Amino acid sequence: MRTHAQAVVIGGGVIGCSILYHLTKLGWSDVVLLERSELTSGSTWHAAANIHGLHDSTNISRIQHYTMNLYNELEAETGQSCGVFQPGSLYLAQTENREHQLRLQAAKAKLYGMNFYEVDRAEAERLHPLVNYDGIRCIMYEPDGGNVDPSGVTNAYATGARQRGAEIHRFTPATGTEQQPDGSWIVRTDKGDIHTQWVVNAAGLWGREVAAMAGLTLPLQPTEHQYFVTETIAEIAAMDRRLPSVADRDGEYYLRQEGKGLLVGAYEQNMKFWAEDGTPQGFGHELFADDLERIEENMLRAIDRVPAVGTAGIKRVINGPMIWSPDSNVLFGPVPELHNYFCCNGIIPGFSQSGGMGLLAAEWMIEGETKYDMFAWDMARFGAWADKAFTKAKVREVYSHRFAIHFPNEERPAGRPVRVRPVYEMQKTMGAVFGLNYGWEHPLWFADTPGTVDTNGFTRQNWWGPVGEECKMLRERAGIIDISNFAKYVCKGPDAEGWLNSVFANNMPKAIGRSCLTPLIGKRGGIAGDFTVTRLAEDEFWIIGSGMAERYHRRFFGAVPLPEGTTFESVTEAVCGFNVAGPKARDLLQRLTNTSLATVDFPFMRSARIEMAGVDLVALRVSFTGDLGWELHCGEADQKRLYEALLEAGKPLGAGPVGGRALMSLRVEKGYGSWSREYSPEYWPQEVALDRLVKLDKDFLNKAAVAEVMKNPAREQLVLLALDGSDTDASNADATGGEPIFHNGKGVGRVTSGAYGYWVGMSLALGYVKGVAPGAEVEVMVLGKPHRARILSEPPFDPKGEKLRA
Ligand SMILES: Cc1cc2nc3c(=O)[nH]c(=O)nc-3n(C[C@H](O)[C@H](O)[C@H](O)COP(=O)(O)OP(=O)(O)OC[C@H]3O[C@@H](n4cnc5c(N)ncnc54)[C@H](O)[C@@H]3O)c2cc1C
Repeated sequence: MRTHAQAVVIGGGVIGCSILYHLTKLGWSDVVLLERSELTSGSTWHAAANIHGLHDSTNISRIQHYTMNLYNELEAETGQSCGVFQPGSLYLAQTENREHQLRLQAAKAKLYGMNFYEVDRAEAERLHPLVNYDGIRCIMYEPDGGNVDPSGVTNAYATGARQRGAEIHRFTPATGTEQQPDGSWIVRTDKGDIHTQWVVNAAGLWGREVAAMAGLTLPLQPTEHQYFVTETIAEIAAMDRRLPSVADRDGEYYLRQEGKGLLVGAYEQNMKFWAEDGTPQGFGHELFADDLERIEENMLRAIDRVPAVGTAGIKRVINGPMIWSPDSNVLFGPVPELHNYFCCNGIIPGFSQSGGMGLLAAEWMIEGETKYDMFAWDMARFGAWADKAFTKAKVREVYSHRFAIHFPNEERPAGRPVRVRPVYEMQKTMGAVFGLNYGWEHPLWFADTPGTVDTNGFTRQNWWGPVGEECKMLRERAGIIDISNFAKYVCKGPDAEGWLNSVFANNMPKAIGRSCLTPLIGKRGGIAGDFTVTRLAEDEFWIIGSGMAERYHRRFFGAVPLPEGTTFESVTEAVCGFNVAGPKARDLLQRLTNTSLATVDFPFMRSARIEMAGVDLVALRVSFTGDLGWELHCGEADQKRLYEALLEAGKPLGAGPVGGRALMSLRVEKGYGSWSREYSPEYWPQEVALDRLVKLDKDFLNKAAVAEVMKNPAREQLVLLALDGSDTDASNADATGGEPIFHNGKGVGRVTSGAYGYWVGMSLALGYVKGVAPGAEVEVMVLGKPHRARILSEPPFDPKGEKLRA
């Protein structure tokens, strides 16, 4: 066994083997995989191993397509059969919402050149004659869908990796992982130690136990999951081809051909957890006792749709464990608090995603960053707040809603609240409807009746009207927005300015009381973050960024060593904030402070420590609403007092509380981008008009990469679009993000954010386009159907920034 390696992968399931294979494919041959038993000994061996290309997230869709195409290549390369069957998949819509979802996906498939299109009933009956299509509103077909042999695929990855020099040690459990002072690792086994640069946790069902060896707690929880296989069905036995699989997600089951019978699996409401206190070390190639009663309702729906399921006897039942994260996406990427420890845990559709997941893991380790923005997978989307109780509640929710549509703007309730601010109860009584942002409860909108919850759908919902009222109040008078969920950091010390200059791309403010906007640059030269940095003293800076990306950004801040005597710490938990904005914001705030807020004394982009309503706070004259406004940041203990004073002072002016959904609409009216939507490492500064904030005459994190990409013309451009459908009819829909954009029938881009601009009376969208200029007429595929839209040459709200500076 090797004693030194570039990477040690722990776990020989389909995921560990794919990572090993892709590491070798991208050039690392000095890599080792450790497997405690035989390869495939976790969830892998008993999987139904269905493969699908399509996903609501575009990047995950791309990854799944890569994976589907890889299996045939892998067979050819290694000579190991992957047991690939690709008879296609039929997707059925029983409801209007499912139809909207499928049509949107078909539009995306057209944009990205993926094979997914509508078929009529006659064609569907020809493709799968055993299905009863009554009550089906629309049918889509994915010709490459199908299934693979789980053990064949895993062994093919292993063979391919070995052929490129990797070592695989079966029956060799990793018994310890110890970080060394130089950042490298020792992985301990009974057969000896391996000194390695990277540790990869791909231990599947035992992901929690392997993480614990490095002192880590991962939010993971296993459940049972069942499918059954029928005896031979005469009609299938008589066919000379294989039937496509059936994705009848409204029926909450999956169904495909297995041998000469059918395989049916279900995600039941009455789900069952397994191994809550840890996965037993001795658990091997084992299954649980059958419990078909638990999935009876799903089975009955499958029988209604495919009557042959009900008449054939059951040949075999598989009830096995799988392990879930709180949102059912993988926990992926290097652990921000550790050096070179890579997690790849909690994968549900392992066979649809194994290839892309292995490729991205190898890219991240070898090239420093993935090509696609994978924040949806990044383990840093959860923090310590995602505790055991939260994880369990969420896993119950995601398991039992596995096939439910995840609507745009939907906020699911399980496991909440986990992180609240002092004003939470007060906001509740004011009718706040809350959303979850990195664990924090934050008001999305204020309903007339406390206890109101969102309705969900693709069209405008119950919040649409009230959010319009909030926007109108702010634009006409003023609004008070709770922004406590923003991430806040303080950098202090004699070298604070120098250190921040070596992290961020823009020049840090020289004068006390000045602020600047600055991008953070990723490994490939893209936008890894956008921040407001304020100099509060000679040696003290406040940095404000995206709350959901707080743990993600740790990786970047940790990459530049802090000079001795200079500190950098998060104050997100300790500090709360409000944005008070609108034409009467100054009148409102001036009633509470003796500091002059007149523009001559307190101009745009200035900041100061002031007293307001008896509370010491940091005031910044900035506003994401695009209107005249201040951000006020105070200690958590003062939050309630400040909020009460702001609301009280606002009353005579007709100002009141405003939620996050209104902020979304207001910032889109102004054309402001936001992190993870418009800004992500996939985009170059010149594509998002942030190039003016990148100062190439100084050194900063990933400067060489950004200097290189900025030599190129923009590949796409961020633009603002006004869509037809600007009337206020509740049955209309606005863009929400992800909708393809076409020009004369040709795909030219996609929406990143959408919102109704209540003040300007336009349905708006921000998006990336190529080859079309402002003024051009395009089509945006809202609900999967073409909506005429025009590319605007300037934001419809305050294009010259006069209100902001007033
Ligand atoms: C009933 C059922 C049906 C499914 N159907 C599908 C489907 O249709 N399509 C689909 O895509 N997915 C399906 N899945 C999910 C799929 O099985 C998983 O996504 C996939 O197998 C996860 O693979 P993994 O490599 O992450 O984990 P695992 O398969 O659990 O592998 C982890 C490996 O790590 C090893 N290990 C653990 N600890 C150590 C240690 N200390 N040292 C060394 N090795 C260690 C284990 O022995 C194991 O071999 C199904 C799952 C179940 C339960």
